[in-house]
Amino acid sequence: MITRSSALLQRPDRHEPSPLAIQARWQTQLARAIRDPRELCRRLGLDEAWLPGAEVGHALFEVRVPEAYLARMRLGDPSDPLLKQVLPLAEEAVPMAGYVADPLAEAEHAPAPGLIHKYAGRVLLITSPACAVNCRYCFRRHFPYEENAPSRAQWDTTLDYLRADASLHEAILSGGDPLAASDRQLAWLVERLEAVPHLKRLRIHTRLPVVIPDRIDDALLGWLATTRLQTVMVLHINHANEIDEAVIAACQRLSAAGVTLLNQSVLLQGVNDSVESLAALSERLFEAGILPYYLHVLDPVAGAAHFDVSDDQARELVAGLREVLPGFLMPRLVREIPGETSKTPL
Ligand SMILES: *Cc1c(COP(=O)(O)O)cnc(C)c1O
Ligand code: SF4
Repeated sequence: MITRSSALLQRPDRHEPSPLAIQARWQTQLARAIRDPRELCRRLGLDEAWLPGAEVGHALFEVRVPEAYLARMRLGDPSDPLLKQVLPLAEEAVPMAGYVADPLAEAEHAPAPGLIHKYAGRVLLITSPACAVNCRYCFRRHFPYEENAPSRAQWDTTLDYLRADASLHEAILSGGDPLAASDRQLAWLVERLEAVPHLKRLRIHTRLPVVIPDRIDDALLGWLATTRLQTVMVLHINHANEIDEAVIAACQRLSAAGVTLLNQSVLLQGVNDSVESLAALSERLFEAGILPYYLHVLDPVAGAAHFDVSDDQARELVAGLREVLPGFLMPRLVREIPGETSKTPL
């Protein structure tokens, strides 16, 4: 999953394209994502009464919603499950006992810059600090991006760490969203990872193909389809409505390139906290060629307490899900506990 250490690759363009680079279609869409709560409310035809709360939340963690994702929301419906994931609320400013800025305390497991090594055989690389969408429940919402400027020297240290540990078989690109980095940067990195003989797998945790399906373009498939490493992509999808025809087409291109597609979700109050919603998600994932992997309970990050679902309710939902789904469409219900050597099943 996503972590909070220094990012290894240069931060993607926030607003302006580099004058020398031709922007890919997805980069233009990323640059044009909605970043203003008033604009978000106006575009969705929400009642003015939502705006003051949205401004409060936005001041804590900025709004970011790409057009392609907005297009899947229902107009004028504040309970739309996609909107709920991105609409800031006044509740985010209310302190809650047990909800902290850094719930996973991952800084203790960073033996090299931007590298988290917590679990046997696999390491996580913070490949890009930015995201294409800002999810209100994100445990990185308090991440101090400004303090984490990357450098080429950091890269060398990080790659040395990977080369020196022959027990490592898998490199996981994470962030932020690793696919917010350019294909030139990603191809550069993957070329170096391929040269590490004991690495077998490349895993990418991303939400970009969901919120901007055009991210799966020829430039990306160029390096992804030709690497010697086995490739796994773990998408982050929380609701069936997130999967439209464009997402399915993007997934088909990934599958055709030999990528194994998995999904992880977060159990979120008001978004997917019913057996019907979770079953529909699993069914829809499979239509896109994606297998459910994890269903995470919420990390207790400050500002997200209103999304919490109790452990008892989570277990009940999963028991109900088992009644209606084939075993291969069942996600594993887990929690991330700092200091454990794997995710913890509930
Ligand atoms: C979640 C996570 C992984 C991947 O765990 P899997 O159970 O293999 O999916 C790897 N490293 C870190 C630091 C993680 O948080
Ligand atoms: S895409 Fe992932 S890392 Fe980015 S804000 Fe959403 S949950 Fe957090």
